[in-house]
Amino acid sequence: MARLLLIEDDPAIRATLLRALRERGHAVAASPAAMEGLQTALAEKPDLIVLDLGLPDLDGRELLRMLRAVSKVPVIIATARDEETEMVRLLDAGADDYVVKPFTAAQLDARIRAVLRRGQAPEESSVLTVGQLQIDPGARSVTLDGAAVELTPREFDLLHHLAQRAGQVVTKRELLSEVWQVPYGSTDKTVDVHLSWLRRKLGETALEPRYLHTVRGVGVKLSEPSS
Ligand code: CA
Repeated sequence: MARLLLIEDDPAIRATLLRALRERGHAVAASPAAMEGLQTALAEKPDLIVLDLGLPDLDGRELLRMLRAVSKVPVIIATARDEETEMVRLLDAGADDYVVKPFTAAQLDARIRAVLRRGQAPEESSVLTVGQLQIDPGARSVTLDGAAVELTPREFDLLHHLAQRAGQVVTKRELLSEVWQVPYGSTDKTVDVHLSWLRRKLGETALEPRYLHTVRGVGVKLSEPSS
């Protein structure tokens, strides 16, 4: 069971989904408009939001952008438009999944459970190892070749995020959103600056990387040194 917020202006759809999702054991709040929905989201901190795109006071996309600026709450978009480019845009803008109208409560519930499962935090205590680098999220400590590395909280979060995705390129946009929790589209140099500090503490340089590899125009990857 989850605490859900349904933002949907159509009274019939809203009532049907409210009833069906409650019958499935969820605690559901509902809002018929975007701004009210945003206020409810901030006040109630639901586990997940189901967001209709066509709302009377504000486009659902705008609301998604506003939400993402302040919250990482999972969002499933409910839309009448089954258009691939639109879906890609929405997922890029921070939606976690979408359902195309008409959908059944069972379909929506399956998506809700899948998104919530995906979002479950990994074990806080699990130590991550990349080569000779060990990251302990419980103790928030890092060792490299057995020696402690002193990191600021932000540097730790950055390294931890990269370590969770070790071997994969992580975009700066994702880092801004996940580590700094600032909205997509921000273009400041924060990530670059922190990466260079982190690099120095790991005893490497951008020219001779060992663990931190910049992939030009894409992002950065943490991986075990090849030699
Ligand atoms: Ca609508």
